[in-house]
Amino acid sequence: MADLKIVIQPHKRIALVAHDNKKQTLLEWARYNRELLAHHEIYATGTTGAVLERELGIPIVKLHSGPLGGDQQIGAKIADGEIDFLIFFWDPLEPQPHDPDVKALLRMAVVWNIPIACNRATADFMISSPLMEDTYERLVPDYEGYRKRQIQRQQLFGQSMQLLREDNAGNQE
Ligand code: PGA
Repeated sequence: MADLKIVIQPHKRIALVAHDNKKQTLLEWARYNRELLAHHEIYATGTTGAVLERELGIPIVKLHSGPLGGDQQIGAKIADGEIDFLIFFWDPLEPQPHDPDVKALLRMAVVWNIPIACNRATADFMISSPLMEDTYERLVPDYEGYRKRQIQRQQLFGQSMQLLREDNAGNQE
């Protein structure tokens, strides 16, 4: 599968999400990096966004709370090319009611090859990268082959339905 290049601009659209036990860690990290974050466009799940907006005083696009669809909204934005960068401090020690959404969000980040940090050390490395101030061409597999494969399968299904109909018509004669 060939790769397509999608440009991440210097002005980045960053999504921030933290599970309840990780909200304090994310808040401390975001406070430390406040000046830098203020130069970018910040999205967050509902509760995380409300905490960060109140404590940091920077505008944040707040989506639904994670368990109410916020994780899925961020995943959809990644698929639509509207999020460039994800900081997601998920809790490794507690099951979440929305575990499937958490997995789906992590999967979308990999499918579309966006930078993703799931702990503070990775977030520190990412945010101090010179690429934060620069354009970056992320390589995304050209999924056209995959899309065509879906169409071919549907055509095949259509043909076998046709054969089945002919078969039934034959039985009725
Ligand atoms: P919250 O959601 O920011 O609304 O708490 C986070 C999550 O659990 O995904």
